[in-house]
Amino acid sequence: MGFFSKDIQTLDDLFVHTLRDIYYAEKQIVEALPKMIEKATAPDLKAGFEKHLEETEGHVARVEKVFDMHGVEAKEVDCPAIDGILEEADEVSGEVEDKQVLDAALIASAQAVEHYEITRYGTLIAWAKQLGREDCASVLAQNLKEEEATDKKLSALAETRVNREAA
Ligand code: FE
Ligand code: FE
Repeated sequence: MGFFSKDIQTLDDLFVHTLRDIYYAEKQIVEALPKMIEKATAPDLKAGFEKHLEETEGHVARVEKVFDMHGVEAKEVDCPAIDGILEEADEVSGEVEDKQVLDAALIASAQAVEHYEITRYGTLIAWAKQLGREDCASVLAQNLKEEEATDKKLSALAETRVNREAA
């Protein structure tokens, strides 16, 4: 299914397409997080990324469960949005030498990723409910809850210490 393909006609098609988009994104995040763990200096930031890598593996599994519940093939579609966010994260962090500034940059990049996920899950949950798939919505809501908690923890880390140390 491409961007301009006519394969998306119904809300159900759109739901499945977007599920495949977040499936791709979650898998890309599983690949990107180990690099971020390696680059992080603050032990609590490193630990936070490690925890979220584990959660992200769970997100992939939950999305697979939703494909199964909805009776469609678990497939990925390219998501240029998450590719761009991760690419930019890599570029910026590659340029920063100061460890404290690097931690601030990593948090900012990670929050861009979380916000992407939050917008996707918010939409998917609304569509699942509209399609009468409360069951799918509640599985997706478990992912959303962990993305939101991660985003809040990153904000707290940045605002209570990392930004000050970077300044
Ligand atoms: Fe996720
Ligand atoms: Fe996440």
